[in-house]
Amino acid sequence: MSDFSLIGLSFPELTAALEATGLEPKPARMRARQLWNWTYVHGAREFAGMSNLAKPFRAEMERRFTLARPEVVTAQTSEDGTRKWLLRAAPGVEFETVFIPEEDRGTLCVSSQVGCTLNCSFCHTGTQRLVRNLTAGEIVGQVMVARDRLNDWADREDGTRRVTNIVMMGMGEPLYNFDNVRDALKIVMDGDGLGLSRRRITLSTSGVVPMMARAGEEIGVNLAVSLHAVTKEVRDEIVPLNRKYGIEELLQACADYPGANNARRITFEYVMLKGVNDSPAEARALVKQVGEKLVAESLAAKSPYKFSFHVLGDPRTVNAFALPGGPIFITEGLLRLLKSEAELAGVLGHEIGHVIARHSSERLAKQQLTQGLLGALVVGSGDYSTAQIGQVVGGIINMSYGRDDELESDALGIRIMAEARYDPRAMIRVMEVLAKASGGSKQPEFFSTHPAPENRAERIKAEIAKRFPSGVPEGLRK
Ligand code: SF4
Repeated sequence: MSDFSLIGLSFPELTAALEATGLEPKPARMRARQLWNWTYVHGAREFAGMSNLAKPFRAEMERRFTLARPEVVTAQTSEDGTRKWLLRAAPGVEFETVFIPEEDRGTLCVSSQVGCTLNCSFCHTGTQRLVRNLTAGEIVGQVMVARDRLNDWADREDGTRRVTNIVMMGMGEPLYNFDNVRDALKIVMDGDGLGLSRRRITLSTSGVVPMMARAGEEIGVNLAVSLHAVTKEVRDEIVPLNRKYGIEELLQACADYPGANNARRITFEYVMLKGVNDSPAEARALVKQVGEKLVAESLAAKSPYKFSFHVLGDPRTVNAFALPGGPIFITEGLLRLLKSEAELAGVLGHEIGHVIARHSSERLAKQQLTQGLLGALVVGSGDYSTAQIGQVVGGIINMSYGRDDELESDALGIRIMAEARYDPRAMIRVMEVLAKASGGSKQPEFFSTHPAPENRAERIKAEIAKRFPSGVPEGLRK
């Protein structure tokens, strides 16, 4: 009995392994195809049950090879259905795989290294020394273990898939283990085997700039960049790799990422760390970046307005609003409740909609705000004094848009998000967040009670369905 696992061999390597047992090239290729199908379509764990292979051949395979996956050390299931497996490849070589079920997908978070050489300040793995890179077999093995444990092979009664998406976001920096990650993902994407589309796979990097182009060319999956900060000083501290490959270089590599402008998507990850990157400067830079992206890539680009995006440093007020001509504001209080770039895009897209539809002009006229105050705000070059903001916010919070204005802005917001390739479903979550934040008291202006929140969420869903009649496509910015 051998302990040589065939899991993780490429198809040519598998064929070569069979030739090494004495088979001629042609029969070796045929047998390799059959083994490949048993292994990666049906999830076979031993050769004995491979009914279309001759018994002596199965016995020979049994003697020489195994189909072993990494050993499961512990398995945990949390209340929301998330499953976490601690796996062991060899003594002291332990790593985690996590499955996150959602309504319309199941995402498997896969590790690429045991430990890590980078020391991102928010990451537990960063505190562990690098033990070693995982092999292609150990990376593919994580997908096999998840499918075993979730009863997710082709023979599954209802024919549906549980693991629909993969993110290389577990332990380690995948681009520091490039060859094995590439080889493993090629097996995962093979249409005659595990068969996951490249559009459903995302590789997360802390910003290994020199490897990003190769990742695009040789693997071709979506990319997630752990940005976490938009100033050098802060990113140097949170993601120390930034000292080697700075933000400008990183953003250039993103712009150059092969296929970035069509099917392949790049997303940026951003965690808010209290007292580190949640300063007004950081928040401002993020809001500006997302707002400008929305304008540049949507119908707003053709409008005559001069959009600008600002954060009001008020952690207690949950609000966002637009002024005539383009200045858009979001409070720190609302910003902190948002969990993704797409949710922020939802808030800003909605406000851009108000500007385009000229709602704010009518509303401000109704409130008879003085031209002097408005002039000061619009002409001001970015930073607004607390007193000015106080007056305007005070005035605006006490106003609410009419039903039709809100619905029109929701629809425009969804269109703007879609055109800028943000997932418009994030807008539904924004509604939930704001409903919760209002806690039954006076609703924030952005979340006007007229129409009722549930109806508005329903209208948003209907608008999304209208825009995407055959379902929201994969790969939009989250
Ligand atoms: S690169 Fe990834 S695993 Fe390594 S320390 Fe940073 S976040 Fe953690």
